[in-house]
Amino acid sequence: QILGAVNSSSGAATSVARAFCSSTTPITATLFPGDGIGPEIAESVKKVFTTAGVPIEWEEHYVGTEIDPRTQSFLTWESLESVRRNKVGLKGPMATPIGKGHRSLNLTLRKELNLYANVRPCYSLPGYKTRYDDVDLITIRENTEGEYSGLEHQVVRGVVESLKIITRQASLRVAEYAFLYAKTHGRERVSAIHKANIMQKTDGLFLKCCREVAEKYPEITYEEVVIDNCCMMLVKNPALFDVLVMPNLYGDIISDLCAGLVGGLGLTPSCNIGEDGVALAEAVHGSAPDIAGKNLANPTALLLSGVMMLRHLKFNEQAEQIHSAIINTIAEGKYRTADLGGSSTTTEFTKAICDHL
Ligand code: NAD
Repeated sequence: QILGAVNSSSGAATSVARAFCSSTTPITATLFPGDGIGPEIAESVKKVFTTAGVPIEWEEHYVGTEIDPRTQSFLTWESLESVRRNKVGLKGPMATPIGKGHRSLNLTLRKELNLYANVRPCYSLPGYKTRYDDVDLITIRENTEGEYSGLEHQVVRGVVESLKIITRQASLRVAEYAFLYAKTHGRERVSAIHKANIMQKTDGLFLKCCREVAEKYPEITYEEVVIDNCCMMLVKNPALFDVLVMPNLYGDIISDLCAGLVGGLGLTPSCNIGEDGVALAEAVHGSAPDIAGKNLANPTALLLSGVMMLRHLKFNEQAEQIHSAIINTIAEGKYRTADLGGSSTTTEFTKAICDHL
């Protein structure tokens, strides 16, 4: 399944998505409100979706208070089963303690559900002025391995080791996703981002796989850009890029950089794609503990993630309606959250979006 593909040539549109296409009966989706600002922005999504008449029933799952031995994390087995069963979900941010503690909930979700590609669109919102007016980038991040394999240990006292795993299978899979995404969305260029001059074996293999896939798509321009140079080019002129595909850690960093180009983390959505037709949408940002519980969070990133989920389900009409209401509310400028220079609360901003529906 290629996310929101307008013209999927893969023939891979799942039976799940097709079934929804012609149906107005409610479908069930998993909702993880998550930590920190998560419950506040999840509430906003529920309100906007209900107002727009989206026929979705949410199956809500909270992060557990003790480790579930079946997942080895605070995520319950039942919550993973819910996503497996529904094949679609929306996830709020989940906090991970720094440098100690339990297995990352996000890593657990990605590994257990085999969410191999994370699609992170980043585009200028009309009516919200930043240095650039024309940002339109898609970061596609390998989501299951690289530096985020979770394989770290102490070799001897004072020396620790962290393993970066790159496999041919995962690299081919994410590269294939990126090229097919480009093709089905009318995109012209795929840039593989790497540091193969230093990480010769790992990033070298990643690039080799990207080249192999690129040969199957002669209509798409393929290029390779070293990550440090990529950062400089993005800041100087984001229009130089179109679709970017890269290993896990680089994708995490580059997508925050991209968010900064269009107004910050309050605005950028994403969707995780799994091999068995699972799509789990989530904002790029984290749990924002500094503003949690204060009704200050910008729900736009999670709302736009919800829009990605709706497009995946082929609820295109509602997706466009909600998308326009968000854009128009921000463009009008009367109601904006603090991160966008306004003074509206999450609740006031959400109500304004509902009024624009
Ligand atoms: P963060 O994204 O939570 O916050 C960074 C900055 O952006 C903060 O100043 C915050 O207030 C602001 N911000 C983020 N989202 C916002 C929103 N919707 N509206 C307004 N301002 C917003 O990053 P962090 O502080 O490095 O991480 C906090 C926690 O979140 C950590 O435990 C981290 O592991 C976790 N995290 C989770 C995810 C995820 O669940 N996918 C992603 C990133 C970080």
